[in-house]
Amino acid sequence: MAYRAWFQCINPECGETYPLNSIVYQCKRCNSLLEVQHDLKALSRRNARSWKTLFEKRYKSNEWPVGSGVWGKKEWILPQIADGNIVSLYEGGTNLFWAERFGKVIGLNELWVKLCGNTHSGSFKDLGMTVLVSQVKQMISEGAPIKAVVCASTGDTSAALATYCAAAGIQSIVLLPRGKVSIAQLVQPISNGALVLYLDTDFDGCMKLVQEITRDETLYLANSMNSLRVEGQKTVGIEIVQQFDWEAPDVIVIPGGNLGNVSALGKGLMMMKDLGLITKLPRIVVAQAERANPLYRSYLTNFETFKPIQAQKTLASAIQIGNPVSIEKAIRTLKQFNGIVEQATEEELADAAALGDRTGMFNCPHTGVAMAALIKLLKAGKIDKAERVVVISTAHGLKFVEMKVQYHQRKLGFPSRHANQPIELPAQLDAVKAALRKALAARKQFNV
Ligand SMILES: *Cc1c(COP(=O)(O)O)cnc(C)c1O
Ligand SMILES: [Zn+2]
Repeated sequence: MAYRAWFQCINPECGETYPLNSIVYQCKRCNSLLEVQHDLKALSRRNARSWKTLFEKRYKSNEWPVGSGVWGKKEWILPQIADGNIVSLYEGGTNLFWAERFGKVIGLNELWVKLCGNTHSGSFKDLGMTVLVSQVKQMISEGAPIKAVVCASTGDTSAALATYCAAAGIQSIVLLPRGKVSIAQLVQPISNGALVLYLDTDFDGCMKLVQEITRDETLYLANSMNSLRVEGQKTVGIEIVQQFDWEAPDVIVIPGGNLGNVSALGKGLMMMKDLGLITKLPRIVVAQAERANPLYRSYLTNFETFKPIQAQKTLASAIQIGNPVSIEKAIRTLKQFNGIVEQATEEELADAAALGDRTGMFNCPHTGVAMAALIKLLKAGKIDKAERVVVISTAHGLKFVEMKVQYHQRKLGFPSRHANQPIELPAQLDAVKAALRKALAARKQFNV
């Protein structure tokens, strides 16, 4: 069966198309972003029941490459790629954690957390990067003169790019804002042999430079304005529905910075609806840090205006972005999904992440932003306690230990309500016993 996909301009008045193996990131006619379009007619020749059966059969199986959560949906992602060019590190298939205790603590009957950080490079960026690097490998095999793949990053895109490129034997180049990524995020591309450019600017500054240098077609652009990444990332919504035995939840909360991921989430869900796999769409909530909140500000005007801002330093460093590339796609998604945007202060995001940790998670600060937004929306009555809610956890907390250590040391400039500090004492039995007696009496053990 011949399934086909191509790039198409998102501007409805333009709609120009380009083949997937052309080196193009924005429409040459009107400069809008592109998106990958699929031949839905061909895909709909297979009925919904049969797609579900196929996806289930492949899911987390040992069959390469379709055991990958992304490549198990290959026909919906990149139907024309040769299996031999697929660069997969078995991404996707992450746990949908039943956050039973955390849900109870915040007053929600049913809360689930999609742990996208439990993956090869520690963030959801793997889902998109497997698709982009595979397509690059295919283009190189067809004779495209690509010398390296380049991205600007707040730390996780660069880690994913570097590891997939290293696995494929392709040179990667990453531009990072100096001092604005964690040590783990800096050492990831260094270890994977990327050319690491560490620049005295912020993410938006790196992004500008990357757009300039990739005018040279031998340097291929890997940022999410390249819509190939969105194709892989869109599997997160499909996978969540699959994990609920093909039932869509009521609400999905996702942290947003450059806004590629919320667009991807919406795209996957919409494709399921178009092909009859679901009938109901969930509401989508985008959570932003108050210090980097251009989408939230636009939401307050009903999306009538949008102004880029200078993002301020935030603990949620991966979403410290003031001029999101995918703003138009994100607003379109929020309108389709009856969307809400909420914001979280530094204290709110850090406390929410720590409170979640007390119930068995190990949250990154961006997941903290999403949890804080959820708590606020519950309090405001905008989300009902009877709704089934999924929070998308975007990265593994182990990438952000500096922030977590400082939280527990109460060094973040606010009280750190859930701080837990080690007790320092001599290695003597009496001292240990006395300390335990005192600490256990003071503490409501097993309560958060
Ligand atoms: C990239 C990233 C985000 C934001 O995703 P966007 O597509 O830029 O909105 C959120 N959290 C983490 C951990 C990330 O790495
Ligand atoms: Zn166009």
